Amino acid sequence: MRRTSYTDDHEAFRGTVRKFVDTEVVPVYDKWYEAGIVPREFYYKMAELGVFGIEVPEEFGGAGIESFKFQAVLMEEAARAGVSFGGSSVHVGLCLPYLKKLATDEQKQRWLPGFAAGEIMFAIAMTEPGTGSDLAGMRTTAKLSEDGTHYVLNGAKTFITGGVNADRVIVCARTAPPREDDRRFGISLLVVDTTSPGYTVGRKLDKLGLRVSDTAELNFTDVRVPVEDLLGEENKGFSYLGQNLPQERLSIAVGAYAQAAAAVRFAREYTQQRNVFGKPVASFQNTKFELAACKAEVDAAEAVVDRALDALDAGELSAADAASAKLFCTEVAARVVDRCLQLHGGYGFINEYPIARLYADNRVNRIYGGTNEVMKMIIAKDMGL
Ligand SMILES: Cc1cc2nc3c(=O)[nH]c(=O)nc-3n(C[C@H](O)[C@H](O)[C@H](O)COP(=O)(O)OP(=O)(O)OC[C@H]3O[C@@H](n4cnc5c(N)ncnc54)[C@H](O)[C@@H]3O)c2cc1C
Repeated sequence: MRRTSYTDDHEAFRGTVRKFVDTEVVPVYDKWYEAGIVPREFYYKMAELGVFGIEVPEEFGGAGIESFKFQAVLMEEAARAGVSFGGSSVHVGLCLPYLKKLATDEQKQRWLPGFAAGEIMFAIAMTEPGTGSDLAGMRTTAKLSEDGTHYVLNGAKTFITGGVNADRVIVCARTAPPREDDRRFGISLLVVDTTSPGYTVGRKLDKLGLRVSDTAELNFTDVRVPVEDLLGEENKGFSYLGQNLPQERLSIAVGAYAQAAAAVRFAREYTQQRNVFGKPVASFQNTKFELAACKAEVDAAEAVVDRALDALDAGELSAADAASAKLFCTEVAARVVDRCLQLHGGYGFINEYPIARLYADNRVNRIYGGTNEVMKMIIAKDMGL
């Protein structure tokens, strides 16, 4: 089916990205994979390509385009090639909306030109060792100093994507205790300079998949954060998270859909050239049925993604819509990637085959950005249940 959500401009951008991935990423990807990190310098290349600045307003060094679809194309192309850009997806896909919506003009002037140029890489830290799904339970504190000039940040975060490479981290911290009638009250967002004394990066976590992504623990011991670096209003952080999570969840849906599409392509190509019992694996009826069933699931996920992308651009994507898209597309991808790996036989289990890495990379889609159980809670609540 013809895709309806992308224009000729998006498709031209897709061509540019595909070439970039083929020349700048695929040849060096094994090295990144072994090192477990995307080299910091690569982000300057991404910035040069203009991908960090697409949605940054022109007065701050960007192209000023108000659409998430170019980022979606970028994610689709990474998945298509079986690669990942590490923390940069969080830099643009997650952090930029917070900066655009909540930063003052003075803050935008300080952060956005560097953001677009790849000089200031951002990450976002919500999850803590003791709390992930239940974010209102976070314990990191930011206490305002007596003279009112800075906050004193103490606590720890974990699973932070881009945590090693980041120059600034949007840290969610308690500036006030929860209220009896509102546990969500009292959380604020602070943009923390990662060179501040007392800020330390802990372990870079050894993960099942997404191995090139620098997922890290962060620790804060009496970190001084100037009041000028408070993002938005004090104590309203939870509602800011609620407003931005739909885009994060849609981006996970887009990536999952694209991984499923890539898996079908890998399996189709592989089974056509692999001979068993004297004929190509693709010639067995089971293979045809499996791939046909997978293709139908991918088509359905594509329709969901395209509708959701249009809704996001139109400002109409609700929290429940995004949860539904994430739930559906990530479950489809899990089934499809698994079935496509099976068609590879033993080679599907070997990391030099892209399907094996895809299988491992895909698993986290049902966990991060809010687990799929949390997605079901959001959808059920919207149904009045
Ligand atoms: C690779 C990776 C990258 C990440 N990147 C970031 C990042 O950049 N920034 C960030 O802040 N966080 C990040 N995260 C954290 C991620 O968002 C959390 O892991 C996720 O929200 C789940 O939280 P948790 O791990 O504490 O699981 P828990 O909350 O401990 O959940 C454990 C289990 O309980 C289930 N559960 C929880 N509550 C309920 C309920 N009410 N009813 C039924 N079941 C329930 C969950 O679905 C899950 O199955 C990342 C995680 C990973 C693995």
